[in-house]
Amino acid sequence: MIGTSETPLRVAIIGSGPSGFYAAEHLQQSGLVVHIDMYDRLPTPFGLVRGGVAPDHDKIKSVTRVYDKIADEEDFRFFGNVEFGRDIDHDDLRDLYHAVIYATGARKSRRLGIPGEDLPGSHPAPAFVGWYNGHPDFVRWRFDLTHERAVVIGVGNVAMDVARILAQSPDALAKTDIATHALEVLRASKVNHVIVIGRRGPAQSAFTPKELKELGALEGVDVVIDPAELDLDPASAGSLESASDRVKKNLAHLADYAARPRPGARRIIEFRFLRSPIEILNTDGNVTGVRLSRNTLIAGEDGSIRTKATGQEEIIEAGLVLRAVGYLGAPLPGVPFDTARGVIPNVLGRVDGRPGEYVAGWIKRGPTGIIGTNKPDAGETVAALIADAKAGLLPDPPAGTRAEAEARLAHNRPAFTTYADWQILDELERGRGAETGAPRRKFTRVSDMLDALAEAKEGTSRPAR
Ligand code: NAP
Repeated sequence: MIGTSETPLRVAIIGSGPSGFYAAEHLQQSGLVVHIDMYDRLPTPFGLVRGGVAPDHDKIKSVTRVYDKIADEEDFRFFGNVEFGRDIDHDDLRDLYHAVIYATGARKSRRLGIPGEDLPGSHPAPAFVGWYNGHPDFVRWRFDLTHERAVVIGVGNVAMDVARILAQSPDALAKTDIATHALEVLRASKVNHVIVIGRRGPAQSAFTPKELKELGALEGVDVVIDPAELDLDPASAGSLESASDRVKKNLAHLADYAARPRPGARRIIEFRFLRSPIEILNTDGNVTGVRLSRNTLIAGEDGSIRTKATGQEEIIEAGLVLRAVGYLGAPLPGVPFDTARGVIPNVLGRVDGRPGEYVAGWIKRGPTGIIGTNKPDAGETVAALIADAKAGLLPDPPAGTRAEAEARLAHNRPAFTTYADWQILDELERGRGAETGAPRRKFTRVSDMLDALAEAKEGTSRPAR
């Protein structure tokens, strides 16, 4: 029987975002003896909590205290700066562990599939998010904020985040953990009009009321919406009574914005609905605007509300376009993948046709929900894993010891980092932040992280990369 102190259940978790940590927590609470090794391609843990949650949402980030407790358990190890498929692959994991949980999230961005999408000045919003959050993948991106008008495509919470960061006072952002390179560009920004575009109506917006309301509380920002934009189509109006609280509250906030006098603030965030982007326009290769098709809405037989082009078009001039139309999962080498949905095909977290392999989080269900959604999601996965362990369905790993896993890493990737290393970096970042009254100033390059670590661990030579 595995899961005893003689034969602990050995599990690798790939990815250290919320779903990975909640999977670890469920394993720790399973009643079996479980040894957990969590891998991440970055030297730092926490996935989107570090690289995705907006810098001015400090409270949301405090969830990492829960993850610290999980990592503090004897049965848990973190191996950072280790890339799956490069430093450790599928065969290594099958060799070393009874079970693997892929919790790699969704690091790509959905595409619009329209002409001009890749012009300089048209960017996926998740890249802008990664950039202002100091994610090493995006530090080299350049965002030109020298134009007055920006268009954000999509009406989800990422659209709210990027609109808020574009409109917010840089002095307020300076008190957050925003990346220094982003703060500098935002300080010089000329953007004073952010237009957020929904392809369906206000009742179909994907954002949440709290995030929508937050825009109205920003100093020096007017939130603007033409009251006519809030006239609902017959299907939405007809089902309003039975609509969710979220939808009702969203509509109430939007109505409040529509009714507000405009005091003439420094910056404007404006909402427009029933418009689909059909082309990003340019002059000499630089973005000059977006061509939009005006839509009407039709109710499908399944109750869904879909767009139908009216044939009318409109152009909004803008020098920056951020496409906030969703994240997309990326395939992992040697692991099955559903390209259309951007997920690893699975049933209740069990990877199709792969005993001992599981998924959790966005790579399991797609990029939906908030951080807390990942807790029950990971719970479902771990319940399947534990049931399989108890039923004797997990393959036996030929090289399954804790020491062997570390030895293999020491050979394949000597520059791997541990949770203790992360705690050193964490302290250093907080110290750098304290100098300017910010909660932390992040290291944004992997090489800087490794250099800082080597320096902090005085006497230790810099690990090879
Ligand atoms: P999302 O919530 O799925 O919103 C995507 C938006 O893009 C929707 O308005 C969608 O419209 C629109 N869209 C998709 N394809 C489009 C197209 N071809 N043309 C025009 N519009 C298109 O995605 P997200 O904003 O990236 O957020 C991902 C998840 O993270 C969500 O669950 C979100 O709540 C969560 N999140 C939470 C927070 C927070 O709690 N503060 C912050 C950020 C993100 P349709 O509805 O018509 O498809």
